[in-house]
Amino acid sequence: MQYDRDSYLFYMILHELKDIVGDEYVSTSFADKTSYAVDYYWVSELWHDRGAKRIEPDFIIFPGTAEEISKIMVLANEYKIPVTAWGGGGGSQGGALPVCRGIVIDMKRMNKIISIDFESMIVEVEAGIIVQHLEWELAKDDVSTMHYPAAIYCSTIGGFIAHRGTGVLSTKYGKMEDMIVSMEVVLPDGEIISTLPVPKTASGLDLNWFFIGSEGVLGIITRVKLIIHKIPEVRKFQAFLFKDLASGLETGRKLMHEGLNPCVIRLYDEPETRSLIKRVLGIDKEGIYLVYAFDGRKKIVELQHEYAREIALKLNGEDLGTEMGEEWWLNRYKFFFPPYVFSLPQAFGTCDTVATYKDIEKIYNGMKQTVETNYPQARFIGHFSHWFMWGCMLYARFIIDNPPQDPGEALHLYNSIWDDVLRSVLSNNGVLNEHHGIGIKIGRLMKEQYKNSFSLLKNLKKQLDPNNIMNPGKMGLGF
Ligand SMILES: Cc1cc2nc3c(=O)[nH]c(=O)nc-3n(C[C@H](O)[C@H](O)[C@H](O)COP(=O)(O)OP(=O)(O)OC[C@H]3O[C@@H](n4cnc5c(N)ncnc54)[C@H](O)[C@@H]3O)c2cc1C
Repeated sequence: MQYDRDSYLFYMILHELKDIVGDEYVSTSFADKTSYAVDYYWVSELWHDRGAKRIEPDFIIFPGTAEEISKIMVLANEYKIPVTAWGGGGGSQGGALPVCRGIVIDMKRMNKIISIDFESMIVEVEAGIIVQHLEWELAKDDVSTMHYPAAIYCSTIGGFIAHRGTGVLSTKYGKMEDMIVSMEVVLPDGEIISTLPVPKTASGLDLNWFFIGSEGVLGIITRVKLIIHKIPEVRKFQAFLFKDLASGLETGRKLMHEGLNPCVIRLYDEPETRSLIKRVLGIDKEGIYLVYAFDGRKKIVELQHEYAREIALKLNGEDLGTEMGEEWWLNRYKFFFPPYVFSLPQAFGTCDTVATYKDIEKIYNGMKQTVETNYPQARFIGHFSHWFMWGCMLYARFIIDNPPQDPGEALHLYNSIWDDVLRSVLSNNGVLNEHHGIGIKIGRLMKEQYKNSFSLLKNLKKQLDPNNIMNPGKMGLGF
């Protein structure tokens, strides 16, 4: 529905929203509308930076309960107003941006820890809790979710589930999606549902998987039960330097396949070792930097380290010692914040993908060649983190120091690089993304990735949300 922002219809909707959550939890202020027009998506930051016209929400709501969200959904369906969930706004894909205006539901008032079950090692939380806040509380009892992403201070549990986020210990403890026991969700029609009490059943389809990675287009996650772990007795790191990428990748693969259980494996390509590893860790050597870690009982950790070291040495790794690995852990979040990482006016894109061990090096070479051949103004760097039994994740980046001043031209260049890079990934058996989601940024490529099975996703969306009010414009599902 189109309504003028000073029409009486606008004020009628505003009145009803205030009636649901209370006057103080509805905002239409200029400052808030500006804030919720920009997330961590580079294009939204660019638009703001260049003073171009932003797309702002009409109403920002801070609900306190699932029941309030349910009532908002009913109202939104009546007026056909778009609704977009906002966690921390830390997403890089523009997923939380209200690109069709309407209502933004900021989840951060729903931030309670409901219970901790130490017998089953499960914590129940409201989905708007910032991950670091949860971790601070859990640490008081020597437990943790082990979800340590670089956005730990600014992003929410709900946002991580919606984007299938990943933390630095994922190789042992899994991605966000592996940490979920069950959840409560408000559907687009306002119905509040809960998934089954445990995640491993043979009772039909697992409803958790409808909402993991759904980016707020199928409903709003309001409560979650997550697996927790005891803080390990030790966590020990070791660093190596390799002469070539293939030996580093082979070391990572063997660490996974030789019966060890590493919690970290991170391998930086030569340009990233030369730039970021040098600047953050002060290692001024040529080569390919690799860090790995094991955690748990001290004796078992020591034994695993012995075997891991043998593997790395056999593949001609230069042992940099434990200290150079510990340094990486202590500085692990620095890699993602200025001055170490890129910021405006630079243009940068994180094209993370995942593939089998058979394909991953080919994918890296294809992406690198695409950027360096077609876009001489861009640099390309990457590292491999989040390792699985069958393959690993590549966190690749392109950086342009001086993109065009005109925002439209800059966007065109930016999107062209994304299209070319991701098409090269898809042609080599990779996927559009591993842990940052799709959002508005790369939704246009979903059909190319899924091919004819994309209609399944579209039909599911149509069935659950016939008025297309939930986060329209995202994941390539239409406006
Ligand atoms: C400095 C920095 C470092 C980062 N490092 C990492 C990292 O290490 N690992 C990683 O995985 N990501 C990382 N990210 C990306 C980002 O933090 C993740 O994508 C995270 O999942 C976003 O969570 P959020 O709460 O900020 O969600 P938002 O950005 O607010 O929203 C993201 C999407 O989730 C939807 N959503 C939010 N809450 C809900 C809900 N309750 N129910 C349904 N849908 C919802 C939104 O509509 C949107 O589509 C980083 C970002 C920054 C800025």
